[in-house]
Amino acid sequence: MDCLREGWFSELSTLWPGQCLSLKVKEVLYHEKSQYQDVLVFKSENYGNVLILDGVIQCTERDEFSYHEMISHLPLNSHPNPQKVLVVGGGDGGVIREVVKHPQVESVTQCEIDEKVIEVSKKYLRTMSSGFESPKLTQHIGDGFAFMKQHLNEFDVIITDSSDQIGPAAELFEDSYYVLLTKALKPGGIICTQEECVWLNLEEVKTLHKFCKTLFPVVDYGYCTIPSYPSGQIGFTLCSLNPDTNFRKPIRSCTNEVKKTLNLKYYNSDIHKAAFVLPEFARKFLENEDDGENEK
Ligand code: SAM
Repeated sequence: MDCLREGWFSELSTLWPGQCLSLKVKEVLYHEKSQYQDVLVFKSENYGNVLILDGVIQCTERDEFSYHEMISHLPLNSHPNPQKVLVVGGGDGGVIREVVKHPQVESVTQCEIDEKVIEVSKKYLRTMSSGFESPKLTQHIGDGFAFMKQHLNEFDVIITDSSDQIGPAAELFEDSYYVLLTKALKPGGIICTQEECVWLNLEEVKTLHKFCKTLFPVVDYGYCTIPSYPSGQIGFTLCSLNPDTNFRKPIRSCTNEVKKTLNLKYYNSDIHKAAFVLPEFARKFLENEDDGENEK
């Protein structure tokens, strides 16, 4: 395989032309084609075990906590009572681990298309897959798009932790998926989806942002830093059916005790607020400001 050469994995993809991250491989632990995608797990020199799907890095043991805590606690701490949660994708278990920790969450449903990802994560990504043991969790193996069509008015929070828009996740980036999400939510419900990166995908982020504004009264875009994702950053689109939601102000503050109990390593109340402060080029572009218009 092209991405494994001379002891290095290189993340070559048309999604980020002209650049790629390489990680030094200590040992290939698993490499097979599942029904849906090429699944590779390797032990890296300094990022722990790494999961790759169709040549794209999904998570590494060293930095996964940043993405998993933020994609989970940004929406959960923006909802007054997030009792019933749906996670679409998330086969490595990282999001489930975070969501089941939340004291107000009573039940979590996961809809993951590829059972093989869950199986290898249980074996090789123990830090992430620990949440799979939770009695709050019900797992469904199947396509998230099809699942959504059959669930109406059911969830307080829906988190889409999908792979990128090539392969089985392609339909989770379509407008029609977002329409289904609005229907699967209870009144006042919130969604959070991984939404690429302002350095590489600003046009796509803006297109989705604009479309979501036609469906939800409140739409916002935040991000976290994470060295193993393209350009070291990943964004989140958050939308609420409740017009009073302010994603920039967490509903519950994260005391030292909460941080300790939930074992949080990236998320805190300040980083929640800061996640929505965008660099000027991105803020201007997303807020549709013409160059120079609002400058003093
Ligand atoms: N956060 C990671 C990232 O951005 O690279 C993604 C992690 S998680 C491993 C992504 C999961 O989404 C995979 O396990 C994949 O099988 C699952 N997935 C892809 N398409 C899906 C679909 N249509 N329905 C449900 N799950 C899907």
